[in-house]
Amino acid sequence: MPKKKQAGGCTSGWTSDVWSSIRPVDESGAVHSEGRKGYPPLLRSWRETLEALLGEIPREICSHVASISIDGTSATTLIIDSATGELLSRPLLYNESCPEALERVAAIAPENHTVCSGSSTLCKLVAWWDTHDQNKETAILLHQADWLLWLLHGKLGVTDYNNALKVGYDPEADSYPPWLRSQPFSRTLPSVQAPGTPIGFIKDHIRLQYGFPEDCRVCTGTTDSIAAFLAARATVPGQAVTSLGSTLAVKLLSSCRVEDARFGVYSHRLDDLWLVGGASNTGGVVLRQIFTDQELEQLSSKIDPTTPSPLDFYPLPATGERFPVADPSMAPRLHPRPSSDVEYLHGILESIARIEAKGYRLLMDLGATRVDQVLTSGGGAKNAAWMKIRQRVLGLPVVPP
Ligand code: ADP
Repeated sequence: MPKKKQAGGCTSGWTSDVWSSIRPVDESGAVHSEGRKGYPPLLRSWRETLEALLGEIPREICSHVASISIDGTSATTLIIDSATGELLSRPLLYNESCPEALERVAAIAPENHTVCSGSSTLCKLVAWWDTHDQNKETAILLHQADWLLWLLHGKLGVTDYNNALKVGYDPEADSYPPWLRSQPFSRTLPSVQAPGTPIGFIKDHIRLQYGFPEDCRVCTGTTDSIAAFLAARATVPGQAVTSLGSTLAVKLLSSCRVEDARFGVYSHRLDDLWLVGGASNTGGVVLRQIFTDQELEQLSSKIDPTTPSPLDFYPLPATGERFPVADPSMAPRLHPRPSSDVEYLHGILESIARIEAKGYRLLMDLGATRVDQVLTSGGGAKNAAWMKIRQRVLGLPVVPP
């Protein structure tokens, strides 16, 4: 959907294609039921959707739930009045940008820090702080997951160190850095816990409504991409997960931390390890501009994945790339188009695989652990020919999660 300019200078990324899901799992990770709902992006709807999803868990399963946590899109930012719990401005979504705050943020943060991007949580906070005169004493910043969890446990002002990364929290030192603490807006920053830390018991009226046990705990959450990585069950340094969804995102479990905002590379903490990643603008959205999903299946079955394609494309949905090359002026390269659609698709899939390989090489060049194995998630993971092409181009085992 086209982006809109909002008052205050932030670029809106509102989209109607927003989904939320709920899955009770046991200790082995087995899923016991599943609910999924789309919703319009209004706060009241987030609350209603959460309630509707809780209502979808069979009551028998609710009575066994020991703890609840929520993941949300990282950098989706809410400024709340801590006195009333009310929103002080509309939520800013993960993909909205506040470029007017970038200069101020770059002036206080270390060079190439994760917060030095217009869509970072810190840019959103600074954009709000600089354009509002009232409620600054009581304002508190929350992420999407924190706000939804607050509805369940009722303790305002808590987040986790995965969600807090893009506001500038230092997960290695386990504190907000001095350059951030010294700012007047630092009073809005929530307290930070490890993801999955119990914060409180579920509120009585929710417990009674859905039949949760009295000692059901509500725990701090994480970001959507970390939750997806954990769901792929990669646990050993050197294991990586490529998400072939609308965009191409790579994540590698590494023993060391790597950060470089110039290439959109940053690391999330996962206990004693680091989840190093980057996201390119290439991916399934380009395929969908050219082929239907049905055509993708039919044409892919005719590709010989053992033979390299001579076509050298750079498939992008629009001008601009973030990772492994940061170049806002990079133009899509999808020509010359051969007369055979099978050859065309082969060239595109192979070119995306080369971008993926370059991405992993960049992470290793920056100092991350060497990649041993690549798990795959997202809509592109079901394409067997693409898996074989990627295995050849990456020179690594490419396996389903
Ligand atoms: P997201 O959640 O990021 O929107 P999904 O993980 O649902 O994306 O994947 C959707 C993408 O998968 C679409 O952009 C589509 O082009 C791509 N896709 C669907 N089927 C195939 C296929 N057979 N081969 C490659 N890509 C596919």
